[in-house]
Amino acid sequence: MNELNRSTSLFDEAKRFIPGGVNSPVRSFRSVGGVPPFIAKGAGSKLYDVDGNEYIDYVLSYGPLLLGHAHPVVTEAVQTAAANGTSFGAPTGAEVALAKLVCGLVPSMDMVRMVNSGTEATMSAIRLARAYTGRDCIVKFIGCYHGHSDALLVHAGSGATTFGVPDSPGVTKGTAETTLSVPFNDLPALEKVFAEKGSAIAGVIMEPTPGNMGLVLPKDGYLKAVRELTKKYGSLLIIDEVMSGFRSAQGGSQSLYGIDPDITCLGKVIGGGLPVAAYGGKQEIMSRVSPAGPMYQAGTLSGNPLAMAAGIAALTYMKDNNVCETLAKRNAELTDALKEAAGAAGIPVQVPRLGSMFTVFFSEKEVTDYEDATACDLNAFRAYFHSMLEQGIYLPPSQFETNFLSLAHSEEDIEKTVSAAKNAFKKAALAASSGC
Ligand SMILES: *Cc1c(COP(=O)(O)O)cnc(C)c1O
Repeated sequence: MNELNRSTSLFDEAKRFIPGGVNSPVRSFRSVGGVPPFIAKGAGSKLYDVDGNEYIDYVLSYGPLLLGHAHPVVTEAVQTAAANGTSFGAPTGAEVALAKLVCGLVPSMDMVRMVNSGTEATMSAIRLARAYTGRDCIVKFIGCYHGHSDALLVHAGSGATTFGVPDSPGVTKGTAETTLSVPFNDLPALEKVFAEKGSAIAGVIMEPTPGNMGLVLPKDGYLKAVRELTKKYGSLLIIDEVMSGFRSAQGGSQSLYGIDPDITCLGKVIGGGLPVAAYGGKQEIMSRVSPAGPMYQAGTLSGNPLAMAAGIAALTYMKDNNVCETLAKRNAELTDALKEAAGAAGIPVQVPRLGSMFTVFFSEKEVTDYEDATACDLNAFRAYFHSMLEQGIYLPPSQFETNFLSLAHSEEDIEKTVSAAKNAFKKAALAASSGC
């Protein structure tokens, strides 16, 4: 058992001054129970908490750290930029460099606007789709997360086409009503929404390879069919690759599945661990963004020089070193071994993987949508999670999150992880069968 004395007292103090003690809810460990280790530092694949425990990190700040913690090319770029001033509110060459780099890596993007978070990127993309089409409604998929802006905090419950009901108090009925929700991987449900409301639909926003209900992969032909349907009705397709961008593949999931969206949202990896996100797409659409066009969107710290420097360093290193391909191979090794270990322990799991992302679902059947994901055995997950943490493996503290690999994860890290998982799956099997 790891000692967490210092973390425990920090958590108690944090809860007096910060709601729930955290600045983003999942960090509180609420769905698995226990005290979250408070982090002192990160290096490569490892996290170190304030109690002196060491962990192999599969959270990686929920995705951004493709190269691992404190990679020297990123750290040096940030230090150099900081010495020259941290913010100007005036254009810089670094913004041009990152924009060019991103448009080169993601061919559907002719132009791009930098913002500070994925939430801002998707919120702005939706405003743009509405401005461009002159329509009000948007369609999203149940279990896909696009940040916490009002219009997107809606999933409308299960079933086919329902008007949105807000997921959170504080979101008005009026806002939720223009967000239509359908299950992922269910083409007939989407066709039905379009048949009923097509001429009012500004756009469809989707994670092409959803990662926010755990990792769920699209069925064959599904994404192409969504693209065709949006075209047929004159609605825009907004592909949210805030998580999958530079993770599923260098060109994102859109490159893997051969789809050409109107607007793409990026975040996480694009900032190399600093706060950067972006939205971009076809020139004709992006020209509607202020000051080139009438759709207003702005940001005091957008295009921040430290953040641009980190993004340029991380993406350049990724591109020059085939990082995404290397990680996909390592991921295959790890996930195959995890499946084998679960089999040996007699606990049924599904382990979908894509690029440097994977999820261990405690489920007998394949997980294809939110309903399947929420049917997983959460007792088994909790037992697995806590056993891994005690053995020094830091996983996302929820069944409905994706695990990430970084370039810093070595063969030795993977062997340690698999050997810890052999124990953890046995604990999960006990928790599952006892149902406690
Ligand atoms: C993380 C995430 C967001 C939100 O990004 P923030 O930077 O947390 O606001 C949006 N969409 C997807 C797909 C994400 O994974």
